[in-house]
Amino acid sequence: EPQLSGDFSTLMGWADAVRRLKVRANAETPLDADTARKFGAEGIGLCRTEHMFFDPARIGAVRQMIMSETERGRREALAKLLPFQRQDFADLFRIMAGLPVTIRLLDPPLHEFLPHSEAEIAELAESLGTDVTTMQRRAADLAEANPMLGHRGCRLGISYPEIYEMQARAIFEAAVLTAKEAGKAPVPEIMIPLVATRRELEITRAQIDKVAQEVFAESGYHVEYDVGTMIELPRAALTADRIAEVGDFFSFGTNDLTQTTFGLSRDDAGKFLPLYVEKGIMPKDPFVSIDVDGVGALVRIAVEKGRSVKPNLKLGICGEHGGDPASIQFCEEAGLDYVSCSPYRVPVARLAAAQAALSAGGSDQTA
Ligand code: PEP
Ligand code: MG
Repeated sequence: EPQLSGDFSTLMGWADAVRRLKVRANAETPLDADTARKFGAEGIGLCRTEHMFFDPARIGAVRQMIMSETERGRREALAKLLPFQRQDFADLFRIMAGLPVTIRLLDPPLHEFLPHSEAEIAELAESLGTDVTTMQRRAADLAEANPMLGHRGCRLGISYPEIYEMQARAIFEAAVLTAKEAGKAPVPEIMIPLVATRRELEITRAQIDKVAQEVFAESGYHVEYDVGTMIELPRAALTADRIAEVGDFFSFGTNDLTQTTFGLSRDDAGKFLPLYVEKGIMPKDPFVSIDVDGVGALVRIAVEKGRSVKPNLKLGICGEHGGDPASIQFCEEAGLDYVSCSPYRVPVARLAAAQAALSAGGSDQTA
C-alpha cells in the first residue's frame, strides 16, 4: 500500500505541469491497477492476459483448451474461462473509471501451458475423454525447440480463433456491464501481440469486430473501442504503414523488439551481457535502456511510417523500457504519446517525462 506524502504530490504536480508524455501502467490484477492509480497512472498501457490464466482455478481449463484436438473440446474449455475473464476485465474497468485500458489478447509461450508430468497427462486424458497416448502425442506435437520464436501471440489466435473470440466477448460483455453500472462506458483498447504482417492484424481485427457486433446486438448497448497492435518484431516496424491501415494504435513491445533485433534471447542474455557492458561492446543493457541505434531506429521508422498513413495514430511503449528515464527521453524525442511501466515506476516515469519535455523544448524553464 503506497503512502504518499504532501511533498510527493507537490513534486509530482510540478512534473505533471511540464510533461507532454502521458504515463500509464502495466497491470492485470485489481491490486496492481489500484496501486497504479494511487501513483497517478493515466490508464493501463498493458494488461497481459496470459498472467490471468495461471490462476489455479483456471489452469485446468486452460490446459484442456490447449490440449484438445477438436474445436468442440476447445470451446467447452473456453466456456469455463469466459466468466473468469469477464470478471477480470470488469474489475479493471471499474478501478480505472473511464481511463484507457489496453488489453492484450493471449500471448503465452506455449510450453508454459503444456502438461509437465505423467499425472497431468493422465488427468487431461480423463477430462477430455481420451487416452494417455493421444495426450502424449498432442503434447509432443505442440512442443517447440524455440517457444519464444514459435507458436505464440497472434499466431496462436489465428490457429485457434475461438481463443481470441472468447477474450473479445469477455471484454465487450464487461464493458457493457460496467457502462450500465457506472453510467459511463470504458473505452477498451484491444491489442494484438506479435504481429509481423498486416494480414495477421486484419484477420484478428475482423474476428474482434464480429464479436463486438454480436455482444452489442444481444445487450442493446454500444461501446466505443479501439483495436491496435504491438510493434515488437522488426518486420512490423518496417511495414508499419501497411499495418497502420488496419490498426487504431501501436504499442512498442521493446522487450521482444530488443530480443529480435539483436537475435538475443531475453531469458538468457543475463549470462553474458554484463561482460559486454563491462568491455564497452554495448553501452548499457539493451533490455533495460533502449538501444537507440538499432531498436530506436526501428521505433522511429514505425512512427514515421505509421503516422504517414494516420497522422493521429496513438503511439505508446509498454516494454520494460517504458519505466527507464533514458528510454523515456528517447520516447519524447520519437514523438510517442505515452509510456507504460510497472505501477511502482509510475512516479519515476512522470519525473523523467517532465525532464524529457524540458530538455526537448530547449527551454530554460526550471521545475
Ligand atoms: C514486449 O515484448 O516488450 C512486451 C511488452 O510484451 P511481453 O514482455 O509480454 O512479451
Ligand atoms: Mg512481447
